[in-house]
Amino acid sequence: MLRATASRPDATAKTAMATASKYEVSQVGAEIMQKGGNAVDAAVAMGFALGVCEPFTSGLGGGGLCTIHTASGENFFIDFREVAPAAATLDLYLDAEGKNNGNTMTGGLASGVPGEVAGLLYLLDNYGSGNLTRQEVMEPAIRIATEGFTVSAYCANAISDAYETALKFPEMQKVYWNDMGLPYETGNVIANPDLAKALQKIADEGADGFYKGEIAQAVVDTLAKYGGVMTLDDLANYEVMVREPVTGTYRGYQVISSPPPSSGGTHLIEILNILENFDVASMKVNSPEYIHLLAETFKLSYADRAQYMADTAFADVPLDGLTNKEYAKERAALIDLEVAKEPVDFGDPTLYEHTDTTHFSVADVEGNCVAITKTINYYFGSGVMVDGYGFMMNNQMDDFSTDPNSVNKIEPGKKPLSSMSPTVLLKEDGSPFMVLGTPGGARIFASVAQIITRVIDSGIPLHDAISIPKIWNNGPMNNLQYETPLQGYEDYAVTEETVKKLEEMGHGEIKTAASGAVQAIQFLEDGSLYGTADPRQDGKAVGY
Ligand code: GLU
Repeated sequence: MLRATASRPDATAKTAMATASKYEVSQVGAEIMQKGGNAVDAAVAMGFALGVCEPFTSGLGGGGLCTIHTASGENFFIDFREVAPAAATLDLYLDAEGKNNGNTMTGGLASGVPGEVAGLLYLLDNYGSGNLTRQEVMEPAIRIATEGFTVSAYCANAISDAYETALKFPEMQKVYWNDMGLPYETGNVIANPDLAKALQKIADEGADGFYKGEIAQAVVDTLAKYGGVMTLDDLANYEVMVREPVTGTYRGYQVISSPPPSSGGTHLIEILNILENFDVASMKVNSPEYIHLLAETFKLSYADRAQYMADTAFADVPLDGLTNKEYAKERAALIDLEVAKEPVDFGDPTLYEHTDTTHFSVADVEGNCVAITKTINYYFGSGVMVDGYGFMMNNQMDDFSTDPNSVNKIEPGKKPLSSMSPTVLLKEDGSPFMVLGTPGGARIFASVAQIITRVIDSGIPLHDAISIPKIWNNGPMNNLQYETPLQGYEDYAVTEETVKKLEEMGHGEIKTAASGAVQAIQFLEDGSLYGTADPRQDGKAVGY
């Protein structure tokens, strides 16, 4: 019962599948695998290419997280998240009243030390097939940066929304504005020769080409121009971390996802564990009873997040407890199916509410799965475009809290708390079932949980599961949000009547919100691969 839309962003294939929020990037992934690369080679090529043709969501100045499941049954988690520079102390981010002074968001202080280049090259060197050279894997990104990519309506909107930012940070204008000094529009082609030069240098010299020498100097100088404190040492010392993924189960399926410094995987598992105590399958998706159950579950999980979650190098995070089924049972017992509760407010529930970032998924028929979510945080990151090299610096410092009592407060050398949840699901026998993830700030893991329960509990086909409006409650307080339906999904709308019923149940102010773009792959029963991209953005799956 898949719905027909004008141009479907999904595909079915026998051998391999790649899906990203840009069609040309999915094509890059499929081509790399056709050339003899494995799913990791494809993901690395796609990662570099995404930074070129969706430069406002991720890129060389950002970082990311990667979950890998190999055909031989091993799971890996690669953390290339940014880290706070050694001189980035909390006081730099506070005004006279002790409030956030805006430096986490814009300008030279907003950036963590970027991890993307180190991360993607680490993946290539350690998990790639070895059949393709760095040059071959980076060639598509260099080509697109040189020849240009066509601006979509989504991209044009992002560029025009960033008009004021580009006025403040004129280096941005060189890339995002045309010769007449106007923002590029839908249908225009953006080439970025500076970025092509940076990418070629990385292809030639490896990570050192970015973390040492002239690019590193340009990063430090451009940030300093806008008040930054990042040093050459900060860049030279950046290290990729290989971590144990968090794991759990949901109704027999195994869930493999992101550990800290992301809160995502842990709370994804906590949410699913809580939901296992209820008969979700019997509830219509987006009915009042369904939304109420999810919202109450999310609140319990976000209360824990605010209290416990941070970089484990700086905080003791009770990961085993948070992902424990018995603990979830206790949490589930707190839910009243008739009445909304206000759990204790542990922190600021409104942090990180945005839909930037990008997620892509790759898989092959042998069962290799790669899920990567990567970001410069908000669209166009800090606004700082590295002079002469054509990439934006992240504003990941905004994922910290400036509350000195928060477990996630700013500290030098610490990683800001993420919600990114690149996730792989396996069947009970250990064979792969699904690869997925999404942008969406602190709503990410609640979004991933909804896709999983829609497919597993409600039996909804993957593309529809992604397209149906989602709901969130990202905080321990009542702050229910819902999406308006895409065309063709009106029968899953959160109707006025539903909103009224939820208000009667005690949910406070109920608002609409926008969703990030999920990119997912499912291993079908007949042995083929089904990939799909979220119709909310420009993506399309490509397989062969
Ligand atoms: N910076 C956010 C995080 O790491 C992601 C931002 C987004 O998805 O828009 O969780």
